[in-house]
Amino acid sequence: MNNHLGTAASTTLKPSSSCYVEVAVPLHVSKTFIYRFSSEEATPQIGVRILVPLGRKLVTGYVVAFYEALPPHFASSESELKDAGNVIDSVPVCTSQILDLTRWVSDYYASPWGEVIKAALPPGISPAIHEFVSLTEEGRTQEHTDEVSLTAKILNHLSTTSQPTRRDSLSHFASMTQVSRTLHEMENEGLIERTQTQSNSFVKTKQMRFVRLLPESLTRDNKLTSAQERVIASLKRQVQKVPLQVVLKEAQVSAATVITMEKKGIVSINTEVVRRDPFYDAQSQAPSNYTLTAAQSSVLTEIESAIQNGTYSAFLLHGVTGSGKTEIYIRAMRTALSQGKSAMMLVPEIALTPVFSRRLREHFGENVAIFHSSLKRGERFDEWSRVKAGEARVVIGTRSAVFAPVKDLGLIVVDEEHESSYRQQDSPYYNGRDTAIVRAQKESAVVVLGSATPSLESFHNSKNGKYRYLSLPERIGGRPMADAAIVDMRNVFARHGKQGVFSDELLEAIKETQDRKEQSIILLNRRGYSSFVLCRSCGETVQCKNCDVTLTYHRSERVMICHYCNYREAVPSVCRHCGKDYIHYVGEGTEQLEELLKKAFPTLRVARIDKDTTSNRRRFEKILQDFSDGDLDALVGTQMLAKGHDFPNVTLVGVVSVDAGLALADFRASERTFQLITQVAGRAGRGDRPGRVLIQTYHPNHYALRHACAQDYEAFYEEEIRYRQNHSYPPFIALASFLVHGPDLSKVRNDALELRKHLDLANQDRTSRILGPAPAPLARLKGEHRFQLLIKSRSRRRLREVADAALRAAAESRTNLRSINLEIDPVSLM
Ligand code: ADP
Ligand code: ZN
Repeated sequence: MNNHLGTAASTTLKPSSSCYVEVAVPLHVSKTFIYRFSSEEATPQIGVRILVPLGRKLVTGYVVAFYEALPPHFASSESELKDAGNVIDSVPVCTSQILDLTRWVSDYYASPWGEVIKAALPPGISPAIHEFVSLTEEGRTQEHTDEVSLTAKILNHLSTTSQPTRRDSLSHFASMTQVSRTLHEMENEGLIERTQTQSNSFVKTKQMRFVRLLPESLTRDNKLTSAQERVIASLKRQVQKVPLQVVLKEAQVSAATVITMEKKGIVSINTEVVRRDPFYDAQSQAPSNYTLTAAQSSVLTEIESAIQNGTYSAFLLHGVTGSGKTEIYIRAMRTALSQGKSAMMLVPEIALTPVFSRRLREHFGENVAIFHSSLKRGERFDEWSRVKAGEARVVIGTRSAVFAPVKDLGLIVVDEEHESSYRQQDSPYYNGRDTAIVRAQKESAVVVLGSATPSLESFHNSKNGKYRYLSLPERIGGRPMADAAIVDMRNVFARHGKQGVFSDELLEAIKETQDRKEQSIILLNRRGYSSFVLCRSCGETVQCKNCDVTLTYHRSERVMICHYCNYREAVPSVCRHCGKDYIHYVGEGTEQLEELLKKAFPTLRVARIDKDTTSNRRRFEKILQDFSDGDLDALVGTQMLAKGHDFPNVTLVGVVSVDAGLALADFRASERTFQLITQVAGRAGRGDRPGRVLIQTYHPNHYALRHACAQDYEAFYEEEIRYRQNHSYPPFIALASFLVHGPDLSKVRNDALELRKHLDLANQDRTSRILGPAPAPLARLKGEHRFQLLIKSRSRRRLREVADAALRAAAESRTNLRSINLEIDPVSLM
């Protein structure tokens, strides 16, 4: 990759000198491009957007370097270079810090730099570009000497209209390069003129027209029409300027009326930039101001002194739910601000916690900017602009907020650092948490990773000294954690002789809770979509011999497959463990749970939260509101219900089918289940009454469940880290996955096998271990077949060398690289 930033990065060029710009484009390409740049008026700065020709298209790219002489490492000869087009921005959209950070992301995750930059900017800010061509007078009178040359074809085509013609419409005559060359010649001969326009449908500042009553107008003797009088009445009702739209509506007049009044000097109309504020309807309350507990104080002191030091330092804040972590975050952010620095807080999912963003607003007022994909594009743009201008110094947002252009970064908080949503699931792949750590390093800031259930990697890092460990072991006010108990579904099965969704224990608990006028949450843990085979009698699942993950059942072939190494096995007819008949697991849906509950308890007021309901945000919020108001007795939902909500009247949480999560074909299955149960236990009993958690399982002795019920993170960590070490999983090795995908099964399979060969060739020293190809757990997605290969290596450097060499070889043997995704540090293998 040609990632050389030019020297003197911020100086502008001397006019009229011809130079070269290096441009990253937001496309699936692993390199940057170089263009000739010659312009009298515009001077490109690093970090501006620029139009450049790429193949047959004009695309918006980002200037990442410029050179006065063609650098030697650009092998392509000068004559093949194309000219860059217009520079879009007068001020760089990308600060040098963001360029640097995105380049790191691009290098580390093998993601296209231009795509990373694009992801770092608010969406929708780039205009679509159209180039137009029209004949000059000379071109119009030009004799058509022949009918076959490209010049003649173009002249002919253009002469059919007097309007400028879209350049795209010439593309069917010849290749883009030929058309370009010919148009260039024709322009030089004065036959045509070229213009470019930008479509207006992109995000920019919002402007509004305001009307003011001019004071002197009232004393003057103006004869007013009744419409004009209504306008004045409307304006007088307000103290200050009034938006034109409001005046028109209130006074029931047309814009012409007000414009006439402006001409007469009665009112003034001004256009002003207004801010689209995502919090405009927030009711402000006084921020809470607690006296910190002793534990909170000592944690805060450590973080504060690190912030005051002004050097990089990383903390893991391990605090049970309700231990007052959020209070620490807020105070640490305040400290950063008081040092004249900025603070940033990353959260896994803002939509679920609008309450929290409001809380920050209460503390920091206009200083808070919110970055989140559910905001309207205009709002996102405005929030980003305020941060870039230094008007907002506190940023809260989901993973891409890590790229917010804040100045003088002092602190980054990553809340719920273990959440897999910090990982971007499609290109450009990156992990927001890990990027936050690198950013803090680069900008000498403090980073705090907070969680009640730290990821194995982070806890490991705190043990080996990479992070400083801070803990808040107790809940505020000494409130007990909910009591968690396991319901052994094998007994339930034995009792009834058939499988049931709900155990008697859970049904009874729901009933009792309703009778006490308290509330229940019923969780269905169903991550992933694959099914597996489980013995209903003893709870055993079938594991891969090589990888120690659960085999996934493929109904169509009636075979069980390991999605890491492709080990296969026929579905056994009896359980190897207990000798009884196997029964295939079929996952129940939330809808079914809701129906079953309604049938069992006709008076139970129950609603459901899942993908269907959350896609409609209003409906989703209404359900949460009803539940919060006590208009519902129970909520049924998927794991998203486990996060962040604070319902004081919930005293029971039931987890149905925890096994689906435990048996998932993923080496992180146990970790995720442990986190889920712990989090759920934090949901129950937030109020004064103690809470209770019931977990239904066929694996009552699984260590993740046992330790989760005992709220014993350390014990879980010890067992889990041993498993990772014994079976060579992160953090003991570096992991990369290749996903080969495409519509044609045999082609995908062949490409994957081919890739395996390239990988083996690159790995002749056997420093890495290569697994697969195997069908991905989601073997078909969106009409595409998917195969997976894994590389495990003790050396991260070797891992990348092997992966890069294989990709180069694949490209040379004409495999389309678009059909191969390389993921470094994948979070889930799906
Ligand atoms: P966490 O983020 O660890 O889940 P929170 O910061 O949300 O915990 O704190 C849990 C509850 O305790 C919140 O309602 C919060 O307002 C309250 N709280 C936090 N710190 C204190 C304190 N020092 N004194 C009293 N209440 C507090
Ligand atoms: Zn395997």
